[in-house]
Amino acid sequence: ITSKLPNVSTSIFSIMSVLANQHNAINLSQGFPNFKSDQKLIDLVSNAMNSGYNQYAPMAGNIELRQVIAKKFELLYNTTYNPETEITVTAGATQAIYTIISTFIKPNDEIIIFKPAYDCYQPTIELNGGKTIAVQLEAPNYNIDWNEVKSKFNSNTKMIIINTPHNPSGAVFSVDDMLKLQELTKNTNCIVLSDEVYEHIIFDDVQHQSVCLFPELKSRSFIVASFGKTFHNTGWKTGYCCAPKELMHEFQNVHQFNVFCVNHPSQKGLADYLQEPKHYLELPQFYQTKRDRFLDLIKDSRFKAIPSQGTYFQVLDYSKITNEHDVDFAKRLTTEFGIASIPLSVFNNDNIDNHVLRFCFAKTDETLKKAADILNRI
Ligand code: PMP
Ligand code: GLN
Repeated sequence: ITSKLPNVSTSIFSIMSVLANQHNAINLSQGFPNFKSDQKLIDLVSNAMNSGYNQYAPMAGNIELRQVIAKKFELLYNTTYNPETEITVTAGATQAIYTIISTFIKPNDEIIIFKPAYDCYQPTIELNGGKTIAVQLEAPNYNIDWNEVKSKFNSNTKMIIINTPHNPSGAVFSVDDMLKLQELTKNTNCIVLSDEVYEHIIFDDVQHQSVCLFPELKSRSFIVASFGKTFHNTGWKTGYCCAPKELMHEFQNVHQFNVFCVNHPSQKGLADYLQEPKHYLELPQFYQTKRDRFLDLIKDSRFKAIPSQGTYFQVLDYSKITNEHDVDFAKRLTTEFGIASIPLSVFNNDNIDNHVLRFCFAKTDETLKKAADILNRI
């Protein structure tokens, strides 16, 4: 067999979660909460099953869900997406990303991504014959060098993938970043894929800079979102994407043969749940409390934190502790000390190792305390 992805091995999320389970370690590696999602939401999905939402949904998604997503855009960003033509419900953000890339990328097209990058972008680009053009964000602040982006942007650049709030670093795009991106892509055919799965997990009263706030950018962009990330049920794999009609039409042409439609009862339950905006408006505070608690618990440890600005991840620098490679240290922390994290080098250009690990703080207070007790001993 000739592999279509010869350079890809098992995802670090599987590796670290399996290792954590084998060693009974506290698992702050793969990003998922260890608390239940709201009972109200679970009841709504269960009601949906009991009242007959058990057959195929419409191809673009349950219409009530698309309508309530459109309302959310009006409320939060004062902008409109037509629920009939500009929103599609997907099997998590991952499927949206996969389908967007396979809809638009042809062999030899160039796609700019920022490293460290979430792990599904590059393999999907390569499967479609595209060329990944990486721009490295520098630790510890992970700011973007827009001059470098500009120097790598040309007429073959078919797409730029951005992710704010950013996994794994916890950095967020500023207004200035968005304006630079808007300026760079203006009057081109470049599509922007904006991965905004952590839009509701952003701290210190900072405003999430969605591409839809910038009209010129909005006109060329897909926004990708994940209900799993938003409502603490990553296992349901339900998300959505939005884009102007012409782009969404092309997307749906592929989506219909990719999955056709996704899990119906969770769509109906989410549609009912989203009728109450407080369910997402409360999230930044909910997660800020967890971030602050985690940072406070480890403030006297030898790990150094630059507070996460968004996402439910905190990156910690361990260079005062050891010189070990981050993958080795992450494994040793799991097997010897009982705490699992994600080494950042696997997401970096040329696997650069800055001696930083990512810890997921979407955990109960009890788990965060136990995790901190271990980190404080190292
Ligand atoms: N993008 C980013 C940045 C993520 O962290 C994740 C993982 N949660 C995804 C996309 C995929 O989301 P989903 O689980 O909804 O497929
Ligand atoms: N998005 C999650 C993370 O960053 C993991 C999702 C996955 O396991 N693929 O940890």
